[in-house]
Amino acid sequence: MLLKGKTALISGASRGIGRAIAIRFAEHGAFVGINYNSSEKEAKKVLGTIEEKNGSGMLLKGDIASLEEVRNMVSNFVDRADHIDILVNNAGIYVRNYFKDLPLETWRRVLDVNLNGCYNLCKCSLPFIPNGGRIIFISSQLAFKGSAHGADYATSKAGMLGLMRSLALELAPRNILVNAVAPGTIDTDIVAHYTEEMRRKRESEIPLGRLGKPEEVANVCLFLASDLSSYITGETINVNGGLYIH
Ligand code: NAD
Repeated sequence: MLLKGKTALISGASRGIGRAIAIRFAEHGAFVGINYNSSEKEAKKVLGTIEEKNGSGMLLKGDIASLEEVRNMVSNFVDRADHIDILVNNAGIYVRNYFKDLPLETWRRVLDVNLNGCYNLCKCSLPFIPNGGRIIFISSQLAFKGSAHGADYATSKAGMLGLMRSLALELAPRNILVNAVAPGTIDTDIVAHYTEEMRRKRESEIPLGRLGKPEEVANVCLFLASDLSSYITGETINVNGGLYIH
């Protein structure tokens, strides 16, 4: 029970990595806020799974790209949970596009969700994060490598790291630890567009020979959310099976 009595708000927790984080945190005693935008049915299932394991949490509907929706969502969470010990900026979107074909609206939407969504969540949550709290960002290996068909995505994930490092410095006097996780290729809906051939090719490129599991990212988030990481801030932990070592 690494998070007994803690409260955690997780964006985009209806499926994939966010779902795994919500379940892992709840298994360790946290009361979790499960944010979702449109997938209410999936979010309810996540809460159901948590409650079956005697954990607790609540659903939080809201588009993280909207400051107003995030403000409402945070207010609903705090009404019940009182404060936010742990904020996880997880929600994100990926749209495959070469830059030459990348429409401005797509660029803006990806930046609005992936990067400005972090601004909205941090801005609205910060007044409720006590000293000793945690902020975790789910970035990507593409923040370092770039992406031939995801300039918007890679830009948003690199920008997120600038925000993470800056908040780490600003919030260190309050012992609020701010870190990021940079996943490699994790087996979620975000890679659902892979053909069998693309999947095999990707697996052959990964030194550990397989895609990662959402739970393997959630375990690192658990470490960063817990007292075990008490002297780590401003850091990015890569969870990529050796695909990008730096
Ligand atoms: P996913 O598509 O399975 O889940 C994304 C989640 O974000 C969903 O719950 C979705 O409903 C939510 N979401 C999307 N837009 C939202 C919005 N505007 N407001 C609120 N919620 C919204 O993807 P995933 O693989 O679980 O990705 C989780 C995070 O991990 C993302 O930030 C993604 O960029 C990052 N990531 C994933 C991989 C991977 O290979 N799967 C690799 C690196 C980074």
